[in-house]
Amino acid sequence: EEKLRQIRKDLDMHVSGVDVAKPCIAFAHFGFDEALVDNIVKHGYSEPTAIQKQAVPVALSGRDIIGIAKTGSGKTAAFIWPMLIHIMDQPELQTGEGPIGLILAPTRELAGQIYTEAKKFAKCYGLRVAAVYGGASKMDQFKELRPGGIEILVGTPGRLIDMVKMKATNFRRVSFLVLDEADRMFDLGFEPQVRSICDNIRPDRQTLLFSATFPKKVERLAREVTTAPVRISIGNVG
Ligand code: ADP
Ligand code: MG
Repeated sequence: EEKLRQIRKDLDMHVSGVDVAKPCIAFAHFGFDEALVDNIVKHGYSEPTAIQKQAVPVALSGRDIIGIAKTGSGKTAAFIWPMLIHIMDQPELQTGEGPIGLILAPTRELAGQIYTEAKKFAKCYGLRVAAVYGGASKMDQFKELRPGGIEILVGTPGRLIDMVKMKATNFRRVSFLVLDEADRMFDLGFEPQVRSICDNIRPDRQTLLFSATFPKKVERLAREVTTAPVRISIGNVG
């Protein structure tokens, strides 16, 4: 217990919630299979970042997370790696065609960055990733989603809703949901779309919400869309 406190203190980490999994200080301790660890190491990562050390074991334990850490702290991989493990564990992986892992991002640029990061790690398992966002052809995105299905979908809220309306995809299989950059989602006025999407996904899903800042309105949304979350914050961010 004393050692655990010291590890979190050294990482400037604040954790709240009951029965929280212990942080892992090395990639080798996450329990990932060799292919994923090799891939991570090949990308030049030598050690998990602070948020990864705590968020990955908590996510792997099936818990919801509210993660608060500044930009550049490695939040993307902190949710992508557990998402891959979650998907590989799903019995319905071979059937259906909607995504199992869904990631909401506030902008086209961010959706693109998450797509790139997801794709490089999803390769280990042969999982398919797609991204949808405004400012690009709906028809092209429609066509990308239709044939054969996908396991991971990244998108901006408005375009995701459009794609569901067009029946390019559906949220029936989604059991791992990520809301990334929740604070920016609010700044850009996407709160109603985000709520609408969350309301249309099975409530027994696993939900991870990440934000660089944590104002009251984000906290309210976070409490509503998660169940018994573990809150992890790094540094003095709220
Ligand atoms: P955030 O979402 O917190 O702003 P990102 O997930 O975009 O941060 O990561 C920031 C940068 O750090 C990216 O270039 C990413 O590839 C890199 N990165 C992520 N995890 C690690 C790690 N464990 N070691 C080294 N670099 C990492
Ligand atoms: Mg990010």
